[in-house]
Amino acid sequence: MRVVCPLSATGATGHKRRMTDSIKLPSGDWPVLQPGWVWLCGAGPGDPGLLTLHGLNALRQADVIVHDTLPPGVLDWAPQAERIASGKRGGRPSPKQRDISQQLVELARAGKRVLRLKGGDPFVFGRGGEEAQTLVQQGVPIRIVPGISAGIGGLAYAGIPATHRDVNQSVTFVTGHDPSGRATPLNWQAISNGSEVIVIYMGMRHIAQIAAELRAAGRPGDEPVAVVTAASLPEQRVLETTLARVADDILAAELQPPAIICVGRAALLRRALDWQAMASGTEPRDTDPLGRGRPAEQA
Ligand code: SAH
Repeated sequence: MRVVCPLSATGATGHKRRMTDSIKLPSGDWPVLQPGWVWLCGAGPGDPGLLTLHGLNALRQADVIVHDTLPPGVLDWAPQAERIASGKRGGRPSPKQRDISQQLVELARAGKRVLRLKGGDPFVFGRGGEEAQTLVQQGVPIRIVPGISAGIGGLAYAGIPATHRDVNQSVTFVTGHDPSGRATPLNWQAISNGSEVIVIYMGMRHIAQIAAELRAAGRPGDEPVAVVTAASLPEQRVLETTLARVADDILAAELQPPAIICVGRAALLRRALDWQAMASGTEPRDTDPLGRGRPAEQA
């Protein structure tokens, strides 16, 4: 087991540039958030720099922002907007999905410019589709602003490519539990056979069961696994382990959600590509973790 919490005081890249001016959008025609509209927008996995320009454009115009639990920073870019927290906070129960969707409808009908801001991408395990559907059914006009999903961008912050030509020609994104909290009833045999790399969202609660299912489906116990918690945030931690050990190692390391779990040899690439450690002056542990010599030449 290897657990690393690599971010130095100088931050994710080791070098920081202080922006004193408010961030300006590049000149050009940007969409206008009209009164009575709802924009469903992804904020990325955590680092405010991973917000898109369309996201910033939305923040600038919103009258009200209904947001998931987000790291501080992003909302500061919308000082004019009323903020309504909809995520789970401090152990308090989160509002029901139906209530959130209905609140969006009511805010829009009250003539507000509404921004629904969600972690990652709104359409990836984020219930954005459900909210959008309710809005459409009730005649509220919408725009979707995609975001960087934790299963891709969060892994990248740990130096793990979701795909790598020498490792995988497919990647499967799964959720570890369903809305009721029960382990997702997935066809693990099919997933295991069909995908060299499996990226698990919301996997912490049922990781022991998931790992057992994957092993029963034929994945080896020594298969590399990486668990990235609070990816892209200053408190990011990365556990490097194996399928046989992952559940015990998560407990031993006292890792807490949110976590993205990567099963497969792509996780090994972190040994070469841990760019945050390198930015802090650490040499790569292994420049050839797949044992392939030079990276495959482009065909
Ligand atoms: N729409 C989001 C996913 C929402 S589901 C997206 O596209 O990323 C919530 C799950 O996402 C968490 O349980 C965790 O598995 C993952 N996640 C979100 N942010 C994360 C982060 N910063 N670090 C690690 N995992 C994260």
